[in-house]
Amino acid sequence: MHRDELRIAVLEGDGIGPEVVPVAVRAADRALAARGITASWDTLPYGGAAIVSHGSPVPDETLTALAGHDFLVVGPHDSSSYPAEHRTPAPGAVIRKHFDLYANLRPARAIPHVPATAPDIDLLIVRENSEGLYADRNMVVGSGEFMPTPDVALAVGLVTRGACERIAERAFEAARSRRGQVTVVHKANVLKLTTGLFRDVCLEVAERFPDVTVDQQHVDAMAALLVRRPADFDVLVTENLFGDILSDLAAELSGSLGLASSINCSDSRVMAQAVHGAAPDIAGRDLADPIAMIDSVAAALQWYGRRHDDSRLTEAGAALHESVVATVAAGIRTADLGGTATTAEFGRHLCSVL
Ligand code: ATP
Repeated sequence: MHRDELRIAVLEGDGIGPEVVPVAVRAADRALAARGITASWDTLPYGGAAIVSHGSPVPDETLTALAGHDFLVVGPHDSSSYPAEHRTPAPGAVIRKHFDLYANLRPARAIPHVPATAPDIDLLIVRENSEGLYADRNMVVGSGEFMPTPDVALAVGLVTRGACERIAERAFEAARSRRGQVTVVHKANVLKLTTGLFRDVCLEVAERFPDVTVDQQHVDAMAALLVRRPADFDVLVTENLFGDILSDLAAELSGSLGLASSINCSDSRVMAQAVHGAAPDIAGRDLADPIAMIDSVAAALQWYGRRHDDSRLTEAGAALHESVVATVAAGIRTADLGGTATTAEFGRHLCSVL
């Protein structure tokens, strides 16, 4: 399906969100327009501002409106700054759960000219995003975390065959268009039933992808191996909490958390959302690095283009990433990368490259 008009929902979020999201939107709009695609970018109420205006960080009208959009661009939220009754569930989790965005894809690759601990890292972490120990999304009713007494805290971890199967399929499919290698990350020597089921189902799915090489690692060993020989790994597939932790490690190895992009997807929807948080310590000062947000939108365009077999979108996504690389190469960098550029200056240069 090729369409010349796209409707894209924009949720700016908190902290640095209103600074980095508009930069990514302007750049993506330019990349799309250059390929004959007109995008309408609809900013919807979300986050701390929506608590003030609508009484909820994710108002019902936002959820309803999101359903009518082609894809979503979501900024970070700072729920710790919300009034206590609005702190959980986190707004991002509400959207992930509502649309069953079960796959969180987090690449880690160094950008030329940015100092990196592991300049040769080129990884994709495929993180199961709907269950595990994440109490904000692993129950239909109630919370997966509870306290029978003030001194006893319990958490329920959820692992289902169906969720393992679908995330494993996404990982093996992704490996086919990369270096053809998947590492299943678990802790089945201790969490034998839960992460054991995750490992077993992933290995079953592997049999359907004989062209992809599969191996497995315990999560603690994986953390060490990522530091020791990061270039040896291609796609890692893992459960929710392990994926969250390993992807921050991989992001730092590749340069900085401020570079770490991600998309969350179901089989039919995609949401661009950078890995970093709202960074309240630098918010409002035009200091934030917009690269993670721009690359997240680039990855969402590529996902959407592949799904709808529209090469203009995949090309727009590739052009966005290339313009990030070119801007950094031209010496335009924000403070986190040792530069002096402001967020807005980075955005302006990027658009001129595009
Ligand atoms: P969360 O739990 O929501 O992920 P967090 O508290 O772990 O958030 P961040 O908000 O991501 O952490 O901030 C961690 C550090 O990284 C802060 O010092 C912040 O300023 C910095 N940081 C995060 N994102 C960026 C960015 N885009 N540009 C520059 N610095 C950033």
